Amino acid sequence: MTTRYGATPGEIATWIERAGAPRYRLDQVVDALYRQRIPLEDASTLPRALRAALGEAFPLALDPVVASTGDDGQTMKWLWECRSDGAQIETVLMRYPERATVCVSSQAGCAMGCTFCATGQAGFVRHLDAGEIVEQVVRAAHASPQPVKNIVFMGMGEPLANYDATWTAVERFHQELGLSARHLTISTVGIVPGIRRLATESLPVTLAISLHAPDDELRNTMIPVNRRYPLAEVIDAAAELGASRGRRVTFEYACIASVNDLLEHAHALVRLLRPLGPRGSHVNLIPLNDTAGYTGTAPVPVRMQAFATILRSGGLTATVRRNRGTDIDAACGQLRSRVQGTMPDPTVRTSRDESARMAP
Ligand code: SAH
Ligand code: SF4
Repeated sequence: MTTRYGATPGEIATWIERAGAPRYRLDQVVDALYRQRIPLEDASTLPRALRAALGEAFPLALDPVVASTGDDGQTMKWLWECRSDGAQIETVLMRYPERATVCVSSQAGCAMGCTFCATGQAGFVRHLDAGEIVEQVVRAAHASPQPVKNIVFMGMGEPLANYDATWTAVERFHQELGLSARHLTISTVGIVPGIRRLATESLPVTLAISLHAPDDELRNTMIPVNRRYPLAEVIDAAAELGASRGRRVTFEYACIASVNDLLEHAHALVRLLRPLGPRGSHVNLIPLNDTAGYTGTAPVPVRMQAFATILRSGGLTATVRRNRGTDIDAACGQLRSRVQGTMPDPTVRTSRDESARMAP
């Protein structure tokens, strides 16, 4: 069965025709589904009977298990269960005064097995389809007073390991939600063929590479897939994509005390990224979020600042981020781990909002 946000406008048009409704309803339906920021059931621009029939023909794909709001009230997080098979995924909404960012999952679980990541520790369940990815954003947008202007693929899963569904969702975000490509960020652990494929697409989305280590020896211990796609190849593919689009590539670096935060690591990072030029890269330093399956911890803030200072004096640009939403376990994979570990029979809580570690 085609789900509400898995359906293409073409499929909806066919359904409208078969239902005997006038053609002009198509624009109204697409508007109701994507732009009104209310559930279809409440879209009074459509006749009640049409809404009901549409809702039945194109059911939602996700049921909320838990919705939580961070202490700051600006971060919301959802744990969803996929109706088709009960797979669980999570979505985070981060609100700012004028706009909001949604962090989406591209897979249930992840096969990459990064040691420090809760999703990686839990393993792979399955790819999400495009409708499941799109629905996360639309439903988060319904809960946001601010319009969603940015979407980051930084929830559960490796988007470039689920390329087709990810790209279909990207196109839908661009066409139906009207978001500019550069406000859509794909974060990857470094799947080189996927990065190269992005270069063939006409939409110039923003690329973020999860680096976390400045050399192969260390990165191999944290990110198993680095053995298949070593750093030099990842940087090369990323640099080429960035240069072809005239855009800098973001490098994410989760700082872990005494593991990757030594001053020598900062100097090595400068050597690694300096060839991309002063406008070719940007480093985001993020404090590690604790996860159950990993003993590392975040460095003290002053240490991250010292790390950033070395990067800047080496000619790179760098930002030290704080984590948002750690009070509600909004970081990658954490809500799901907690719920599964402590709540055998999770029930829906009605509290709203928040979480996330993503860079805005
Ligand atoms: N699989 C993709 C996107 C999802 S992970 C990727 O790896 O890029 C989103 C981001 O969260 C990545 O940068 C990832 O490295 C980071 N991350 C995972 N676990 C983390 C943790 N415990 N603390 C801080 N960042 C983490
Ligand atoms: Fe997967 Fe990204 Fe987590 Fe690595 S960091 S296990 S690629 S979700």
